[in-house]
Amino acid sequence: MNLSFTPEEEAFREEVRDFLADHLTPSLRAYAQRMTSVYATKEVALEWQAILVKQGWAAPSWPVEYGGTDWTPAQRYIYDVEMARAGAPPLSPMGIGMCGPALIGHGSKAQKDYYLPRILSGEDFWCQGYSEPHAGSDLAALTMSAVEEGDDFICNGSKIWTTHAHEANMMFCLVRTDSSGKLQQGITFLLIDMNAPGVRVDPILMLSGEHIQNAVFFSDVRVPRANVVGQVNHGWTVAKYLLEFERGGSSYGPRLLARLRALRATAAAEGLLEPGFARKLSLAEAEILALEAAELQQMSDLAGGGTPGLKASMMKIRGTELSQHLTELAIELAGVYAAPFQPQHTSPGGPVLVPNCPDLSGNVPVVGPESAVTVPAKYLNDRAGSIYAGSNEIQRGILAKGQLGL
Ligand SMILES: Cc1cc2nc3c(=O)[nH]c(=O)nc-3n(C[C@H](O)[C@H](O)[C@H](O)COP(=O)(O)OP(=O)(O)OC[C@H]3O[C@@H](n4cnc5c(N)ncnc54)[C@H](O)[C@@H]3O)c2cc1C
Repeated sequence: MNLSFTPEEEAFREEVRDFLADHLTPSLRAYAQRMTSVYATKEVALEWQAILVKQGWAAPSWPVEYGGTDWTPAQRYIYDVEMARAGAPPLSPMGIGMCGPALIGHGSKAQKDYYLPRILSGEDFWCQGYSEPHAGSDLAALTMSAVEEGDDFICNGSKIWTTHAHEANMMFCLVRTDSSGKLQQGITFLLIDMNAPGVRVDPILMLSGEHIQNAVFFSDVRVPRANVVGQVNHGWTVAKYLLEFERGGSSYGPRLLARLRALRATAAAEGLLEPGFARKLSLAEAEILALEAAELQQMSDLAGGGTPGLKASMMKIRGTELSQHLTELAIELAGVYAAPFQPQHTSPGGPVLVPNCPDLSGNVPVVGPESAVTVPAKYLNDRAGSIYAGSNEIQRGILAKGQLGL
């Protein structure tokens, strides 16, 4: 894709580069290189967020009055590219990327004034309570109940796969407040304090052995009525609005491109850029550039006041598929160094990954932004990409129905 930028936009790029050179610390960059999933820890995400908040850049898509920016689509794109190029860690998606837009779109003024600054400051760290053991793809089948009692709701039931629930102090949650009508009716969007009596969080380990997801149980948890976002029984509208941001609010292209180019550089440096592998990298690059072009188009739609809409489903499918493909290419490149590894259950903080080949601790090529040690863990964890935020099969169904009218 051949994009040309105005002198003002190039000046903005320099501003972002200077900022990153001054503020992206070596430890944050090193952490991002070692990440094996798409989620940074709370500690790292909030450290980087605090730096961006100071600069006014933490929530580019929010309205300026709430701490956002008035960037053009081109500036937003440049920002994403430079962040990816510099190897910055991601922020936690649940607060700024999901709960924030839901509150901006559907919250009361009091909710916006209270929660949005707390999201930015990190005082509130959010998790998403949508999925239940029997309600994942078929989300409207959710059964966690909330029964009105005076000024409160009393909540009972459970949520599953809840990312960061063990680190979060707040959950945005879908609960059933009426079972009499269609499944989509009678759902309410509720904000729940994770420290309230009756909330229990149990860990679920990822394929790599890391603890990021959880099962959460609610037993007579009291939640004030003031924590309803939108109207009681009309939470499905808020939930769907938020899902568009979850699937399409951020861009995949710049980070995928940075990963691909790092892979190519490593292959060249190791003398492994033979024609077959070079061809695979070029094909992947063409696909990523096509996705990036679609994302740029989407960004200009958003700047015009639109929401991610159906295109969010398309971005989610292609972004996660290409990410998985890059982990496969990294495995191919690492060769013997991507040999299986063993979780060792000796650390008090949970299992740690120990490569089963002693050579891996030292003398190994770094494979793109991922050291050879993290290649297999990243490969395994990235399988989740086509499942979370609504599986890719479900996204295809949405496109078939909404876009193609099938
Ligand atoms: C790493 C990770 C993090 C997650 N984080 C969160 C979180 O923070 N909060 C949260 O609420 N949820 C979270 N989830 C849950 C996620 O949203 C669900 O796993 C997802 O929606 C799929 O639901 P399910 O697991 O119940 O699978 P199911 O719905 O049981 O689906 C099983 C399989 O059947 C297919 N399938 C189902 N229905 C259809 C259909 N109609 N057409 C075609 N194929 C179909 C699916 O594609 C899938 O392959 C997370 C999941 C993962 C893996």
